[in-house]
Amino acid sequence: MLRRLLSFLSIDMAIDLGTCNSLVYVKDRGIIINEPSIVAVNSKTGQILAIGEEAKKMVGKTPAYISAKKPLRNGVVSDFEIAEQMIKYFIEKAAVSNKRILGMNYLPRVVISVPCGLTEVERKAVRDAVKNAGGRRVFLIEEPLAAAIGAKLSIEEPGGIFIVDIGGGTTEIAVISLGGIVVFKSLRVAGEKMNEDIIQFAQREYKLLIGERTAEMLKINIGCAIPQKEKKEMPMRGRNLVTGLPEEVIVYNEDIQRAIEKSVKQIVLSIKATIEETPPELLADIMQDGIYLSGGGSLLKGLDELISRETKMPCRIIDDPLTAVVRGAGIALENIENLSKLLSSEDDELSI
Ligand code: ADP
Ligand code: MG
Repeated sequence: MLRRLLSFLSIDMAIDLGTCNSLVYVKDRGIIINEPSIVAVNSKTGQILAIGEEAKKMVGKTPAYISAKKPLRNGVVSDFEIAEQMIKYFIEKAAVSNKRILGMNYLPRVVISVPCGLTEVERKAVRDAVKNAGGRRVFLIEEPLAAAIGAKLSIEEPGGIFIVDIGGGTTEIAVISLGGIVVFKSLRVAGEKMNEDIIQFAQREYKLLIGERTAEMLKINIGCAIPQKEKKEMPMRGRNLVTGLPEEVIVYNEDIQRAIEKSVKQIVLSIKATIEETPPELLADIMQDGIYLSGGGSLLKGLDELISRETKMPCRIIDDPLTAVVRGAGIALENIENLSKLLSSEDDELSI
């Protein structure tokens, strides 16, 4: 009874703490936070000045003593204090908006998504960060599983589901069957690596130093994985490394394609390698349903077509690929009793 009352009153939430973007889903209300995973810190005092969108605006324009910190690197929590502060901010933000509804505030149960293949130590670190930030109970769900649930795929069926989540720091490739992950691969090549490729290209070809945001805009606006019929161009602005002066050059979609080609190829090769490791009885279903793509990196123009061509299988981007993980974690949260086998919680935890 007490348990039911508490679970009714608490602000249970699902968190997708990504390398680039963090999202929060609150039971019965949907996604309430969708912001960049950036924290602006005063490096003299250690004080946190801004989190999320506000912090992103400060990057590059801030005085030297303000530094932008990211809680994750390559999909794994690298700065625990910052991660904890971000989660605390999420919990508080959810609680504040919830107070208006319930007039009270309880510690939440939290489902948080994590990459596949984390070590026990890394998993514990995520749990501790959530607990320290105020989580009452913490459940971990693996990102590809959450993405598949978010895409409304029937993950509990005996057939296979092949899903690839291309985020900022990592690409996670997984085969799911009977609600579990059968085969997975994780590689540290995803959206951010492509931005770095573009920065390198600008230096190599034009001696131009460009910022990460410029590189990302080029990738999103004219980047592509395969040659495009239509020629597109965009100005690339930066500082000439020889003269030290600002400069602008025009670049084309084929330039960006060439700049990121190697990284794109690595993703495709890993997908192929995962197919080779997939049990043949699951391959029959996968060949029919094809490969599902999620994460922001999947939006790179022509990537789905390239994967389809290279694997000789259908390939499609799931609906709203940037929010699939948190939506899936949210569905798991709302069905916590039924889906508990997918969610790993601490063995020694006290139930209420
Ligand atoms: P994470 O889960 O690691 O935070 P996301 O799934 O939020 O990552 O995806 C972020 C990545 O997706 C970034 O590297 C971003 O540049 C990339 N991205 C977003 N939109 C596009 C697009 N239209 N084309 C190519 N890449 C994109
Ligand atoms: Mg992600």
